[in-house]
Amino acid sequence: MENFKLSWEKLIGHAATVKYLRKCIAEEKFPHAVIFSGAEGIGKRLSAEICAAALLCDNPVDGKPCGTCENCHLVAAHTHPDFYVVEPEETKTVRNIKIGQIRAMQAEAILRPINSSRRVVIIDGAELMNTAAANSLLKTIEEPPSQTIFILLTPNRSTLLMTIRSRCLSINFEKLETDEIRAALISQGTDAEEADRLAIISSGSLGRALKLKDSGGLQMREEALSALEKISQSRLTNEDIFKTGETVKEWSRDNFADFMVYMQKILRDISFAEISAPYNPDLSSRISNIKLSERKIFAMIELGAQFYRRLQSNANLRLLAEAYLFRLRELSK
Ligand SMILES: [Zn+2]
Repeated sequence: MENFKLSWEKLIGHAATVKYLRKCIAEEKFPHAVIFSGAEGIGKRLSAEICAAALLCDNPVDGKPCGTCENCHLVAAHTHPDFYVVEPEETKTVRNIKIGQIRAMQAEAILRPINSSRRVVIIDGAELMNTAAANSLLKTIEEPPSQTIFILLTPNRSTLLMTIRSRCLSINFEKLETDEIRAALISQGTDAEEADRLAIISSGSLGRALKLKDSGGLQMREEALSALEKISQSRLTNEDIFKTGETVKEWSRDNFADFMVYMQKILRDISFAEISAPYNPDLSSRISNIKLSERKIFAMIELGAQFYRRLQSNANLRLLAEAYLFRLRELSK
């Protein structure tokens, strides 16, 4: 079934990883708990769903879901009774996975599978489990219900409890080549020139490239750059900061996280432009005009890391954005 959305052909890159996963599935040796780590938007979630389809499929062939049976279609529609996805819940102030979500999953995971011979549970954003949730999950992974397979997804496995990591097989999804991203963008209808630019600045993640293209990412990067230009020229006013606060108020936590990442990458480009490949090669002439001492840049990067962590916990986005810009301006003096 060429058009089945959960087929390995839909995944860009990761050939060796796919080969390994298919072998595990085909030989009935898929680990009972596995961590897929790698940058956001790189293909972890798609891979996990393809694995789920193949593991629940009636007629998998060489670790591929058949794409035609009822089980395949139910997984693709997220309505399969033996397929369970846990994702972070977002409120105005916090984005995390709570113990109640893990308990709800556990209540199902211990039941016998309904349609298939096993169950598959995906925990997307596993690093966003709060401590109670992580400890609760740990108990399940220590004594897993037989027939249940857990796939944890996270950008960075070191953010998970060591006790969880030690009980899971780890699979790392490497960055994609610029050419792979470029070709994928073109095949999805992006024109060649834009595909070039997006591929270069996407840091090896197709998802990030698509976000830059479709969700105003380029605009956000422009906001970040222009704030830094103003700061370096001592012309970022209080009004500018409050205006950014107003804009940020309308953003999701993810949008603001993206904005912070653009800030950090531009700061890195200012300080490391001469020794490593820049994240924003298309902006190099503007970035090279930002004059800030190395000491200040490092302090600003550290500040960004602090605020990025605060973003994951209890924080009002607008106040956070304003506090960040005020502190950034302080550091430039
Ligand atoms: Zn099938």
